[in-house]
Amino acid sequence: LASRVMKAEGTVITVGDVTIGGDTIQVMAGPCAVESKEQLFEVAEKVRAAGARILRGGAYKPRTSPYSFQGLAEKGLQLLAETRERYGLLIVTEVMDVRTLPLVAEYADIIQIGTRNMQNFYLLREVGRYSKPVLLKRGLSATIEEWLMAAEYILNEGNQNVILCERGIRSFETFTRNTLDLSAVPIVKYLSHLPVVVDPSHGIGKYRFVPPMALAAVAAGADGLLIEVHPNPAEALCDGAQSLTPKKFGKTMVQLAQIAQAVGRRV
Ligand code: PEP
Ligand code: MN
Repeated sequence: LASRVMKAEGTVITVGDVTIGGDTIQVMAGPCAVESKEQLFEVAEKVRAAGARILRGGAYKPRTSPYSFQGLAEKGLQLLAETRERYGLLIVTEVMDVRTLPLVAEYADIIQIGTRNMQNFYLLREVGRYSKPVLLKRGLSATIEEWLMAAEYILNEGNQNVILCERGIRSFETFTRNTLDLSAVPIVKYLSHLPVVVDPSHGIGKYRFVPPMALAAVAAGADGLLIEVHPNPAEALCDGAQSLTPKKFGKTMVQLAQIAQAVGRRV
C-alpha cells in the first residue's frame, strides 16, 4: 500500500488548512517537550511569525533515563490545545502507548510515532484505525524496508494519512547524536508515494549543524521538516543542545524559502 507501484502520484495529506506533500514544504517547529504555558506560548508566537504552521511538542517523552523529565502528560496536551487556539497552529505530538492513544488522538492534529516505537506493531495497528495523520519516525536502526513495512501496518488498517520522518540512524559515528540519512529521502520518494519529512534536530543532536542539514533536506526533496526550537535552549528540560533559538529558526526559514524556490517549491 505504501508503494509507488500501487499509486504513481505522490500523496498529499490535508490537515486543517495545511497540506503535506505537494508544492509546499511544511515546517513543524517547537520544543522537544512541553514545559509550561509561558514556554509554549513564546515558541508558538515566534515560530508562527517565522512562517511555521505546525507546532511540535511532546507531552509524553520517551527518555533514556527514568529519572529524566518524562513530560507533563495530559496537562501538556491541554497546553498544546490552548496554544493551538491562541496562535492558530496545528499540533503534532507523540503517542507512546496504546493506553494513552485515545487521549492523544483527541488533542493532536498529527499523531507522532517515535523512533523507539516504530516496530510497536500493536500501536501501529491501533493508530491505523484512526483517520488522523500519523507522523511515523524511522526506527533507530531500521532499514528503509523495515520503515516502509511499519507504514504498511498503519495503511493496512485503513488510515492512509501516513507521513514518514527521517530522524537519523545509529552508526559508528559518535560526533553527532545519530547519522542523518538524507539519502533515504530520494530513495523513499522513489519507492513510495507517501510524503517524507526530515528531522535534522534528532538526526544531528547539535544545534549548530541543524540549519545546513535542514537546507540539504529540502534540496534532497523532503516535503517538510521537524525542527526543535526553544526560547532558552540552555534551560530546556529535554534536548536543549539540539534546539534552535527562535531567532536562529527565523533565519533558517528565510534560507529555506530560497532553497525551496530553487527546487520549484515554497515554504
Ligand atoms: C522527539 O521528537 O522529541 C523524539 C523523541 O523523537 P525520536 O523519536 O525521533 O527520538
Ligand atoms: Mn527531542
